[in-house]
Amino acid sequence: MGDTPAAPQPIENLVVIGSGPAGYTAALYAARANLNPLLITGFQAGGIPGGQLMTTTHVENYPGFPDGILGPELMDRMKAQAVRWGTHLLETDVERVELGERPFRVITTEGQTIHAQALVVATGASANRLGIPQEGRFWSRGISACAICDGATPQFRQEELAVVGGGDSACEEAVYLTKYGSRVHLIVRGDKLRASAAMADRVLANPAIKVHWNREVADAQGAEGATPAPDGEGPWLASITLRDRSSGATEQLAVRGLFYAIGHTPNTALLQGQLELDPRGYLITRPGRPETALDGVFAAGDVADAEWRQGITAAASGCQAALAAERWLTHHNLAVTVQRDAVEPEPAGEPVRTAVSDAFNYDPEALWQKGGYALRKLYHDSPKPLLVVYTSPSCGPCHVLKPQLKRVLSELAGQAQGVEIDIEADPEIAQQAGVSGTPTVQLFFQKEMRQQWRGVKQRREFLAAIEALLQPVA
Ligand code: NDP
Repeated sequence: MGDTPAAPQPIENLVVIGSGPAGYTAALYAARANLNPLLITGFQAGGIPGGQLMTTTHVENYPGFPDGILGPELMDRMKAQAVRWGTHLLETDVERVELGERPFRVITTEGQTIHAQALVVATGASANRLGIPQEGRFWSRGISACAICDGATPQFRQEELAVVGGGDSACEEAVYLTKYGSRVHLIVRGDKLRASAAMADRVLANPAIKVHWNREVADAQGAEGATPAPDGEGPWLASITLRDRSSGATEQLAVRGLFYAIGHTPNTALLQGQLELDPRGYLITRPGRPETALDGVFAAGDVADAEWRQGITAAASGCQAALAAERWLTHHNLAVTVQRDAVEPEPAGEPVRTAVSDAFNYDPEALWQKGGYALRKLYHDSPKPLLVVYTSPSCGPCHVLKPQLKRVLSELAGQAQGVEIDIEADPEIAQQAGVSGTPTVQLFFQKEMRQQWRGVKQRREFLAAIEALLQPVA
């Protein structure tokens, strides 16, 4: 599925900011109403394009997928559906919005100014992290921000687990995790639970939950030299250090899972001073409705929802926001609707998967291949710069990065090539390359590694690095 560049429009009917379930659903409804919406996906400001579901594995509570679906795949499907009906995508972050005059102005981090009659703000919320020293090392290898998403994974079965937080989320997650873990430790920084009484009572009455009062999590440790995490990237979490907030004394607690439930921060920094936010930073709307205090600006999903925060509730509110926006645009006679070329757009189709190259299907000129065979051949035989991307199957950020790299290679029209290495399928290659997390990208030229990137980066960074290698030496 290709990302369609924004059609140049002097004034957009509707700009949707955010690409989680709320944003894509709003765009889908707006596109089907022939509003020709522009969706600004976000890039790094509020997590990654696709939102929080991109960093989960199996989503088992989204109706319509009886056997569950991977979060990134669900988001791919929502994106494909929105694009199929005519949504234009712009892959960048919004730096700020100017809502004092109409049409509204949306300014991207790349300096582009977009004018819009109506806006749907669907920028989501980011789960708070503790920021303990070893957090990055054990993230997704024992530390998770979502017990409901990750609790059922085999590594946690019949193991001691910990939840940090004292609100409803922490209590709900602690109770939920007792289904899987042998015991759940609830780490509370104060001397009481903030959660509702009913929820707190359930926790305190549950013999499988042990509450540690007045404790903070100071750090996390792995069992060095023991079984590595299933992704082969390093040790799994084995214990955490708890600090008594009164005495400062520390103790070790052996746990295989540490789940954060310390609240969320809505991604509303770009709205500061423009729209009314509640004291926690959530966008205020009319109760139970998508309208904000400013006519023509609508909110959808977690950005305005401190309570439910589910993929399905976000999608539903995206639908409401788009329908409300359509009514508003029509009422004010502001919508310039588009004519469709065909009543029925082309089917989105299933995503094309690259086959792993072997001696039979290896193509020395292909822009993008997969697997160790292609890597070895290209490394030794190709005179061109070679981008090697190390991925793992359920890694959402990898999912975001791969199309970016493919676009770089197609923009370079065959002057460079790319290979994907699935580190689960080829752990020895990943180990040899010193890969400690996915996605990692290494740029090779003339059998030497010239540059390495960890995590999702903008396309232009890769392009510039390759172009520098292609410059004739003076
Ligand atoms: P809350 O903001 O209510 O609670 C966050 C908790 O995390 C608090 O106990 C807070 O401690 C603790 N905390 C925050 N920062 C840290 C830190 N750095 N270290 C340790 N602990 C920390 O968030 P929730 O996600 O629990 O709930 C959000 C909203 O959603 C609430 O309105 C809640 O009622 C609702 N909700 C309802 C549910 C239900 O009814 N079934 C389920 C889940 C959520 P402290 O108390 O000391 O500030």
